[in-house]
Amino acid sequence: MAQFRKNLIDGEWVGDAGSRNINPSDTGDVVGEYASAGVDQARQAIAAAKAAFPAWSRSGPLARHAVLKKASDEIMARKDEIGRNLAREEGKTLAEGIGETIRAAQIFDFFAGETLRLSGEVVPSVRPGVGVEITREAVGVVGIITPWNFPIAIPAWKIAPALAHGNTIVFKPAELVPESAWSIVDILHRAGLPKGVLNLVMGKGSVVGQAMLDSPDVNAISFTGSVGTGKRVAAASVEHMRKFQLEMGGKNPLVVLDDADLAVAVDCALNGAFFSTGQRCTASSRLIVTDAIHDRFVDALKERMDKLVIGDALDAQTQIGPVVDATQLKQDEDYIAIGVREGATLAFGGERLDRKTPGFYLKPALLTGATNAMRSSREEIFGPVASVIRVKDYDEALAVANDTPFGLTSGICTSSLKHATHFKRNSEAGMVMVNLPTAGVDFHVPFGGRKGSSYGPREQGRYAMEFYTTVKTAYTFAG
Ligand code: ADP
Repeated sequence: MAQFRKNLIDGEWVGDAGSRNINPSDTGDVVGEYASAGVDQARQAIAAAKAAFPAWSRSGPLARHAVLKKASDEIMARKDEIGRNLAREEGKTLAEGIGETIRAAQIFDFFAGETLRLSGEVVPSVRPGVGVEITREAVGVVGIITPWNFPIAIPAWKIAPALAHGNTIVFKPAELVPESAWSIVDILHRAGLPKGVLNLVMGKGSVVGQAMLDSPDVNAISFTGSVGTGKRVAAASVEHMRKFQLEMGGKNPLVVLDDADLAVAVDCALNGAFFSTGQRCTASSRLIVTDAIHDRFVDALKERMDKLVIGDALDAQTQIGPVVDATQLKQDEDYIAIGVREGATLAFGGERLDRKTPGFYLKPALLTGATNAMRSSREEIFGPVASVIRVKDYDEALAVANDTPFGLTSGICTSSLKHATHFKRNSEAGMVMVNLPTAGVDFHVPFGGRKGSSYGPREQGRYAMEFYTTVKTAYTFAG
C-alpha cells in the first residue's frame, strides 16, 4: 500500500484523492500518492500565509535561525533516506540524489546564519540634524513554484531565504516529484514554524499555480521552469504589480580550444552534457570545438560515453539514470530526429535501452556536424543529448557561444590565460566556467542568467536578499 501525503494549509495536513508518483526507473513502483489541491485550497493557503505574515515578519532572527538550523540538521541526518526517495522519484542516481539532499541541508544552514547577519545602513542626511536609516523588510506572501529536475535543492534555495527574511510562503512543487517537496515541508513544520508561515499546495500547475498567479494577495513569485510558463508568471505579475523572479531554460555552450587539456575537456563535456541525465538547466548542450582538436575530442568523448553505465537510479553502479517520464523521453527522441533531419550526424547513442524493470532509459546521444542554426542547437532539449559544432578559431567559438536566445552558463576549456580571461569578460552568460563543467555550482554564491534564461535578481547566497526583501529609507529629525 503506497503512502498517502497531504497538503499543509494553515498548519493542518489536508486533502484526499490525489495523484500517483511513479518511479521512472521502474514504472511498476509507486513512490506514493499525493493530495492534489484545487483553486479553493490554493486560496485558503494564500489567505493563511497572509494572516501569518505580520507575526512572522516581526519574529526576529532567533526564531528564524532556530527553525532553519533545525531543518538543516534533520535533512543532513536523513540524507541517505531523503536522497534515495529523490533518486526514486526523479531518476537521477543515488549519489546525485544524496548530493542534492546534502546541498539542501547546506542551504538551510547558510540562511540560518544569514538571519543573524541582517544589517542596514545609517547615513547622514543632506539636511543638518536629520538622520537616514536604510533597512530591509520582508516582502509579504511569496509564491514559490518549482520544477522537477532538482526536487529538493530548488525548493530549498527559494524557501530558506524567503523564511530567513521574514516572508510567508505558498509552495507549489512540480507534479512529478512531490515526495522531496513534502519531506522538506514536513521537516520545517515539525521544526517549529508557526501555522500558515509555510503552506504546501501540491497539484496541477494550470490549477494551483494559476490560482497563485491570479491572486492579488501574493506579493512576490519566485519561479523556476519552462520559458512558456515563465512568461505567464511575468505577465500575471505585471498585472498585479508584484515582484517576480524567473529561472528558465538554457542552451549552454562549452567551448573547447585547440590548446585544451583533452582529458579535462572530455571530463567537462561528459559531466556537463550527460550527468543527471542531461536534465539540468545548466547542462552543456552545445560543444563548440576548434578544428585541430575536433576529431580527437569527438573520438575520446565517444569512447567515454560508451563506458557510461545507464540503469536503475538506485543501483550503486549506475552513472546515468532514466529520463524523468514518457513525455520527456519523446521530446529527447524528437530533437535527435530533428537534428539528423537538419543535417547533423548521430555519432553515438540516442536509442532506448531495456533494463530489468520497465523505465524510460535512453542512451546518451551525440550529434556531430551540427550548426548553430539547427533547432537542436537553439531550443532547450532537457535530456542527455549534446551537439558538436565545429569552428575554426577562438573568435568564431565566442561568437557561436553567444549566438543564442539563452544566457545561463557557459564554459571554456583552454590552457590560454588570454582566451580564458577574454571569455570570462565577453561571454553573455550569468555564470562562466573555465576548465570546469557548465553544470555544478556552489550553494553560497549567486545563481542566475541573462537574456531568455532569467529575469530579476539572482538566487542563492547573500544576493538572494534582493528578491526576498524590500528596501525602506526612514528619515528622522530629532529636533
Ligand atoms: P517543465 O517543462 O519543466 O515541467 P513547467 O514550466 O511546465 O516546466 O513547470 C514548472 C512549474 O510550473 C511546475 O511546478 C508546474 O506545475 C508549474 N506550472 C505549470 N503551468 C502553470 C501555470 N499556468 N501557472 C503557474 N504555474 C504553472
